Parts: sequence; structure tokens; C-alpha cells
Amino acid sequence: MENLIYLDHAATTPVHPKVRQAMTIYFTDYYGNPETLYSAGIVAREAIEDARGKVAALINCDPSEIVFTSGGTESDNWALKGTAFAHQKKGNHIIVSQIEHHAILEPCHFLEKHGFEVTYLPVDSGGLVNPDDVKKAITPKTILVSIMHANNEVGVIEPIEEIGKITKAANVSFHVDAVQTVGNYPVDVKRLGCDMLSASAHKLYGPKGVGFLYIRKGLRIEPLLHGGGQEGKKRGSTHNVAGIVGLGKACEIAMTEMPPAMESESVLRDKLIKGVLERIPITRLNGHPTRRLPNNVNMCVEKIEGEAMLLCLDMNRICCSSGSACTTGSLEPSHVLLALGIPVEIAHGSIRFTLGRTTSEEQINYVLDVFPGIVERLRRMSPIK
Ligand SMILES: *Cc1c(COP(=O)(O)O)cnc(C)c1O
Repeated sequence: MENLIYLDHAATTPVHPKVRQAMTIYFTDYYGNPETLYSAGIVAREAIEDARGKVAALINCDPSEIVFTSGGTESDNWALKGTAFAHQKKGNHIIVSQIEHHAILEPCHFLEKHGFEVTYLPVDSGGLVNPDDVKKAITPKTILVSIMHANNEVGVIEPIEEIGKITKAANVSFHVDAVQTVGNYPVDVKRLGCDMLSASAHKLYGPKGVGFLYIRKGLRIEPLLHGGGQEGKKRGSTHNVAGIVGLGKACEIAMTEMPPAMESESVLRDKLIKGVLERIPITRLNGHPTRRLPNNVNMCVEKIEGEAMLLCLDMNRICCSSGSACTTGSLEPSHVLLALGIPVEIAHGSIRFTLGRTTSEEQINYVLDVFPGIVERLRRMSPIK
């Protein structure tokens, strides 16, 4: 994809060349099933354990606390349903925020159909959950709190450490969807004080279809996949060996590439935000102005549709995303923007650029060159006045 200006890293990231290189041999030579006893299997098993060590090092836990999954959606589903089924004798109440990813919200809707009760906490206009609200929502029936580390749409970073102290004092399990942060923003499970944490390889320059769930030692959750005895009987299914190797490599690379990337991305992020606000009238930034991911720019451009902007930007080889979700087959704007209190008609004009490790200043300058013209043209044609 030559000349592509890829600014949708919150949706997925390209596979790092070194990740791809590390994976290849597990397709060609070392294809043995890691559960077998002969040497071809042992090589694969060792590769998995090596990857587990690298993942654990990145988030500061013991390798035995990492279970490999098929990605963020499975990890989130597992944390919720696995806790619900393991602790339903203790209680049936779960607390999440209104701005969680669908991989959290949909399992909640499912559990509500099966006798569980879910509290969906509101957020403030910046997208922040108030830790006091978590405290007030906990009842003797509460078995789980699940709050995301950073939001995938507006990039707001939640007060996880404060919430972790509250759940610990109340003896309630705490799950964190860290799919947007692991490998892109510092994650230390000890500091965050969580019991479970989800991540996905394809959001950190690894392959799609593989991720992990951190489960604190001693915490009991029911398996989601019953089958063979893989992953210490926690998750049946033959290991995705190459995928796991890729995830491990991506975590190892993140140790060195993440700090400088955060630095350069935040400079370019601020340049893009400032440029859009200066060059395009009636625009606004969505989400907290400072407590946000270094790579996230989410703005509303009033009087036009996000989808229209997205398609025009695509014609200029710029990839980004919009929070007005015709993509999901509905005309409702994103639940996240609405939870921030953004009026429906304004939320329809949202556009999200998420930068990455290879985003350059030239690319941002190019966006700032073409974007105002696109908006002007669309506004002239727009029926919304
Ligand atoms: C991408 C994403 C997911 C889903 O992860 P997959 O690996 O794509 O299933 C879950 N939560 C958040 C916050 C995400 O950004």
C-alpha cells in the first residue's frame, strides 16, 4: 500500500517486519503441535513459553498469569462470563462504564438475559469515569468491575489505579480492557491494581487473531473454551503457535519502541489538533484534552457527516475512521460520543485519526493541506445549515 497515509492505528496496526520474520519459521519448519512429546512439538512449546515470558515482562506479571486467547474480544468475553459463572453464588451484579468497547457491552447484554444485573456508569464530558461512582455502585452482590484503560474512540485514559484501590478494598474482582494501551502506553498490572487484563496483538504491531488475558494468581474464573488441557486447562484449543510467537515478539519490540513512539506521536497529535482547529471553522476536540492516548485525535466537524469526510479523505489516500456508525448498519452515532454528552447532530460529524510509530510530520502536513478543502466542499453541498 504505497503512499498510503494510514491514520487508523486504533482499528489495527501493520505487522512489524521483525514480528513477521519471527513468525515465519513456525509455519514452515516448526509446525509441530506443542502438546506432543517429540522434539518438533517441544520446539513449538518452548516458543510459546518464550513468548509468555515476553508478554509478562511488558506488563509486569508472572508468566504463569498469562493465558493466550484469540484476541481482545475473546479476552473481554472470558473475563466477564468466566467471572459471572465462577461467582454467581456470591452475587449477580457487574459494573462497567457506558463507553466500554462492544466486546464488553455485548457480553453484559448477554449476561442480563441470564439473570445478571449490570450497572453502566456514566462518564463526564471528557470521558472520565468518576472513581466515587464506582464506589457508590458496589453492593454486596457485586462480583466484578470492568473499566477500560483507554477508550478506543476518544483515547481518554481512565483513573484505573484509583478504581483498583476501591475494588480491592471492597474485595470485588477488577478487569481492565487494555487493548488500546498494551504496547502503546505503559501498562503495569501491579500499579494498576487489576485482577484481569485484556490485550490483543494486532493493536500493537502483531498479527490478528491472537491476544491474552492476564489472570492474577489465585483468581478463579470458569473457562470459556472447554476442550483439551491446553493453557493449564484454562483454555482448550491447539495453540496458535505462530500468532503467539508474533505477539511475544511485538511485546518485546514495544519495550524499546514504545517510549520514543509516544513522544513523537504526541507532538504530531497536538500539531494535527491545533491545525484542524485553526484551519477549519466550527470544529471541536472530543475527549479529555490532556488525559488521552498519545496517538488519538477525535474531532467533530459540524454540519457534515463523518462518513462523507472519511470517503473524501480515502480518495486522497488517507485512512481514518468516523464515529457516525453507518458502518455498523445503524444511523445512531457512537455510544461513546453520546455518553460524553455530544449532541446527536454534532456527533454525526466525528472523525478519528489515530497515529502510529511510522507516522511522519510530512503525513500530518499533508492531512492539514487537504482536509480543510474537503470540509469546505462538503459544507457547500450539505443540506444541514
Ligand atoms: C480492538 C479492541 C477490542 C477487540 O479486540 P480484537 O482483538 O479485535 O477482538 C476490544 N477492546 C478495545 C478497547 C479495542 O480497541
